[in-house]
Amino acid sequence: MKTIGYASQSPDSALAPIHFERRALRANDVAMEVLYCGVCHSDLHTARNDWGWTQYPNVPGHEIVGRVTAIGSDVNRYKVGDTVAVGCMVDSCQTCNHCHDGEEQFCSSMIQTYNSPDLHDGQITFGGYSRHLVVREEFVLRVPEALDLALVAPLLCAGITTYSPLKTWNVKPGTQVGVVGLGGLGHMAVKLASGMGANVTVISRSADKQADALALGADSFLVSSDADAMKTAASKFDIIIDTVPVKHDLNPYMPLLNVDGTLVLVGQVGPVAETNTTPMILGRRRIAGSLIGGIAETQEMLEFCAEKGILPECEMIRMDEINHAFQRMEASDVRYRFVIDMSSLDVA
Ligand code: NAP
Ligand code: ZN
Repeated sequence: MKTIGYASQSPDSALAPIHFERRALRANDVAMEVLYCGVCHSDLHTARNDWGWTQYPNVPGHEIVGRVTAIGSDVNRYKVGDTVAVGCMVDSCQTCNHCHDGEEQFCSSMIQTYNSPDLHDGQITFGGYSRHLVVREEFVLRVPEALDLALVAPLLCAGITTYSPLKTWNVKPGTQVGVVGLGGLGHMAVKLASGMGANVTVISRSADKQADALALGADSFLVSSDADAMKTAASKFDIIIDTVPVKHDLNPYMPLLNVDGTLVLVGQVGPVAETNTTPMILGRRRIAGSLIGGIAETQEMLEFCAEKGILPECEMIRMDEINHAFQRMEASDVRYRFVIDMSSLDVA
């Protein structure tokens, strides 16, 4: 199937229209027209080759909402016309322990929605900055009817990436949750943790985000450069979710954790600066990482959001505004997630 999208051709080139083919449907494939696609900081990291593994051309996009246009002969969970969603993964082996446990993100054969070689034909996957998508049935999510379609897309990455650690570390009413960085992931962490009944504090560089943080559901706000306020918050948190997308010093955050508290990193920033072991040892504090979430957990998160009325704060953009959106995201000038209205992809 011929289709179009937006791709980067090198680390420093702007994204521009690209014409390409989506594969013919395999028996277990679902084809969809993409309606909306969120803009994740990982799209920007990949377009710029920040992690050193980008293959060009690269069509980003892994927060995808669409409508089913065709199904393969063995597909039985979806039919033409269904509203569906796709996140960061499009395939895995389906047989290893991780796949059996519903944690496909840890399968050694996991295929990402873009920038991964397809398990069958080796073609590098292209993501949701495109008119059409073809994905095997097991990686397609159902969008609950209660959720506004135009706003759902960011749940597929920003939502699940923050929901999963909140569940893993057993956040419940009364848990003290800190969220470092109030961006796309951070603002979802606030809404989700608050929806779970936790007491939520945003820890930000940006004092001017305080009113927003409280409106999103946070109970308090800490400016990370305010040494006195940081001192007052010592030993407060059971879990801190750190969403900062660049290399940064973890030392200011460790003393904020309670005994047995965990600092969960989701930004893939590589080696971090020297981290003092003293607060770790004295408080049995931990540093951990977390990667998106499994397919079943993603569906669970969508249902949770539908039940609680949780949706991201979105700024809708046209496809041809993506380069400007990337610049604004780099400058932390997004409140709080760009979503591309794919009907604006009007390239012939
Ligand atoms: P984002 O919307 O750009 O938000 C990042 C926030 O971090 C900013 O709003 C800002 O908040 C803070 N920040 C930005 N630059 C900073 C700096 N130089 N120093 C300190 N704080 C800074 O990004 P996002 O889409 O939420 O993604 C966050 C990170 O998570 C990215 O690295 C992305 O690749 C990663 N990610 C990981 C996974 C996973 O599965 N592990 C999944 C998706 C994304 P304040 O202004 O409040 O300080
Ligand atoms: Zn993402």
